[in-house]
Amino acid sequence: QAAPATTDLQAHERSGPAAACEAASGSYNRRMISTPGKPGTTGATVLPFAGHTPMMQQYLRIKADHPNTLVFYRMGDFYELFYDDAEKASRLLDITLTQRGQSAGLPVKMAGVPVVALEQHLARLVKLGEAVAICEQIGDPALAKGPVERKVVRVVTAGTITDQGLLPEKSDALLMAILPDKPADAARTRLIGLAWLNLASGELIVAEIAPARLPHELERLRPAEVILPDGAATGLVPAAVPVALQNAWHFDARAGENALREHLKVGTLDGFGCAGLTLAMGAAGALLRYAQSTQGQAMAHVQAISVETGDEYLTLDAVTRRNLEITETLRGTPAPTLFAAVDTCITSMGSRMLARWLHHPRRDRHIAQARHAAIDSLLADGKRFEAPRQALRDIADIERIATRIALATARPRELAALRASLLAVPTLAAALPRAGRDINVIGQEALLERLSGQLTVPPECLQVLQTRLHPEPAARLQDGGVMASGFDADLDELRGLTTNAGEFLVALEARERERTSIPNLRVEYNRVHGYYIEITNSHAQKVPDDYRRRQTLKNAERYITPELKTFEDKALSAESRALAREKLLYEQLLDQLKPHVATLHAMGRAVAQIDAVAALAERAWTLDWRAPVLVDEPGIRIRAGRHPVIAHQISDFVPNDCVLNPGRRLLLVTGPNMGGKSTYMRQVALLALLAYAGSFVPAEEAQFGPIDRIFTRIGAADDLAQGRSTFMVEMTESAAILNSATRQSLVLMDEVGRGTSTFDGLALAWAIARRLIETNQSYTLFATHYFELTQLPDEYPEAANVHLAAAEHGGGVVFLHEVQDGPASQSYGLQVAQLAGVPAAVIRAARKHLTDLEEQAARVTRPQRDLFAANDARASEPTPQAPSEHPSLERLRSLKPDELTPREALDALYALKEEIDSHD
Ligand code: ADP
Ligand code: MG
Repeated sequence: QAAPATTDLQAHERSGPAAACEAASGSYNRRMISTPGKPGTTGATVLPFAGHTPMMQQYLRIKADHPNTLVFYRMGDFYELFYDDAEKASRLLDITLTQRGQSAGLPVKMAGVPVVALEQHLARLVKLGEAVAICEQIGDPALAKGPVERKVVRVVTAGTITDQGLLPEKSDALLMAILPDKPADAARTRLIGLAWLNLASGELIVAEIAPARLPHELERLRPAEVILPDGAATGLVPAAVPVALQNAWHFDARAGENALREHLKVGTLDGFGCAGLTLAMGAAGALLRYAQSTQGQAMAHVQAISVETGDEYLTLDAVTRRNLEITETLRGTPAPTLFAAVDTCITSMGSRMLARWLHHPRRDRHIAQARHAAIDSLLADGKRFEAPRQALRDIADIERIATRIALATARPRELAALRASLLAVPTLAAALPRAGRDINVIGQEALLERLSGQLTVPPECLQVLQTRLHPEPAARLQDGGVMASGFDADLDELRGLTTNAGEFLVALEARERERTSIPNLRVEYNRVHGYYIEITNSHAQKVPDDYRRRQTLKNAERYITPELKTFEDKALSAESRALAREKLLYEQLLDQLKPHVATLHAMGRAVAQIDAVAALAERAWTLDWRAPVLVDEPGIRIRAGRHPVIAHQISDFVPNDCVLNPGRRLLLVTGPNMGGKSTYMRQVALLALLAYAGSFVPAEEAQFGPIDRIFTRIGAADDLAQGRSTFMVEMTESAAILNSATRQSLVLMDEVGRGTSTFDGLALAWAIARRLIETNQSYTLFATHYFELTQLPDEYPEAANVHLAAAEHGGGVVFLHEVQDGPASQSYGLQVAQLAGVPAAVIRAARKHLTDLEEQAARVTRPQRDLFAANDARASEPTPQAPSEHPSLERLRSLKPDELTPREALDALYALKEEIDSHD
């Protein structure tokens, strides 16, 4: 019979006396809003919101500081929203909008979110790009005369979240500040200052870039939120990204630099390479200020600033990133993508690291080579990667936990996870292949050696966690049971009082049963009524005189005795004092851990890299990928390459070669629809990307020279959302390529010109290909359905034809998916249509019409065709003739504008116009 008492006591422990007291106290009541308050009780500024209840005045003052933010106003077990905020939240969160009472003569609209459900609601709002100010009660409700004192403790926005439950696990949430140059001097080269912060890891990076690069940087970094100076064009940022406009003076360069120096505790930022980067400093200053204001504190874990220069990374422009489906398919799904194909990381830190490597491969081949060597050592004599991967299973997200320690928001269970991770880290270090012993290729283990050097656990850090944190802490600090016993005498004593309580209650119950001879007498506890002795009505006449009635139920009465009352007072106060003590000790523990944040961050990054490299090793082993060779000699050579994603989706993928070098810069890729042209081209780009990201590649052999950028113009993607036609998109992308591709760029052009009529499409494709050969001199794969282009190699020795082979078989077509030298012999359009299920009658009609067309074309173009008659393959194809010159052009050429009077010029124009009209 002792059980119930203990259970209740536990329930009591869980909710805590404070909660019980809140529930009873009027000032916490949600309905409080309708009770007219005593004006003036809060002192000071009553005037601006005169007529409102004191609590609403407090609310309105707080709201005035957060006009564009949803204010979550804490009232007991709920966060309440009022007025417009309430309406908006009820719409966005699907919660009930109510009207309770009046303030200043007007009904107050309100909507509430239970405190326990805060995180899930925040997650939804943040996803929608909303900012939320969390306003907590900081005063003691028991002491407050007016409304309890409240304060906004932090503001949650998409770019500043650090909560475990809100952060995406496998990707980073970046906050970015953008500062465009003032348009004062139009002639000067304009720049944009950028600063971005990964609040969850503490990395702060700045850059200054040309405005044209902004879309690519936004695509590369994918900020979760952007801050802009008031008045800047918000159109700079894609509509899907939340933008917070800040006062323009927050972006002042001088102030920004000072703030950064102060924050980083240095005399000058030159050591970080920031000298002269005024725009970047302005952006960084605003960024820091915004982040601090949302966190409500300085961010101790942001301890360095780094500068990124444009040529550090193998650049992928926005279109290419999408087309290559690195972390997202064109349809917007996370799989099947390159990342999904390689990410077998054990920890989410590792996954994030790997995604970074794929999105930001470094051009410096030594960085990739160090990773290749590490993978190699993890594959030496078998599955060497398994032991480290096993050890990684016990390691939590150290990086993010360290950040939350710095922000003093780490939860008890996170610290427990950190403790377990620190215990597992030495196992990881020991599981890594050792230098010198098994592996004898010089320098091979450099990366893993260096990383394992960062796996040294600071002993004091582990020691405080082991001695102070409870072995299995409760989830929430306010529940108690978070600190260990045995290190703080006060806590132990207070806990002793409550632990002994259980025994006391059991003894009391036994004693009272005996004294009263009531066998079913029970000693119990509940939150509202506290401790009581319950006696069923059948024994009512046996109740002793010293029992005081506490509550009457249908079948029973509840009593309290002086002895139980004394106990209750003592227990409740011991309980709340123990909780207060634990809170204090927990805060001390966080403070003791703070000095280790930088070490923990470094350790987290080292673990992440080991995880990423080990995952790549596992992939290489499982999928039979090989080490690519990176060299200074220009060119690309792939033997038996496979598409890293598609090769695993279909059963018999056909491997293909690719050779590009200074004497063979442009490959014209022809072949039937569905022949595999697009797959082949992407495969080449993905292999280059994988190699420079540090991965092995799906190929027998692969060698890559220096690559500065990858460009793609793939498929006929309609960008209707932006109001641009397919053709316009195609040309915009082509223009971007022609304007910036270099000799070290890899360019994929897939069916350019398809979006317009045959002749101008052909003409454009022709001119673009020539330009790429003559001027850009980039490595180019040029897929085309214009057979005319296959003549290019006659004119340019740097161009070569390859085609995807297909064979006719029983009236149908068989795709061999094999890249062979020379141009394709025919397009197999009808066969493909047949394969696709176009009705036989339509195919027959088309075949007949095709024959007619071919005969017609043969009559018209006979003289030209003869030039190529040697090539049988092309003989069956109509070759369009270069359009002959319009007669008016000759007249136009003979005109000398400098020698004409305006009158003569006008006459000439009319004459030309007339001539053209009559000619048509
Ligand atoms: P194209 O661009 O020539 O129209 P795709 O590259 O889109 O052709 O390829 C069409 C389909 O052919 C792919 O979806 C894939 O299933 C298959 N395919 C492509 N390349 C290969 C290959 N090397 N081996 C096997 N199947 C392939
Ligand atoms: Mg294609």
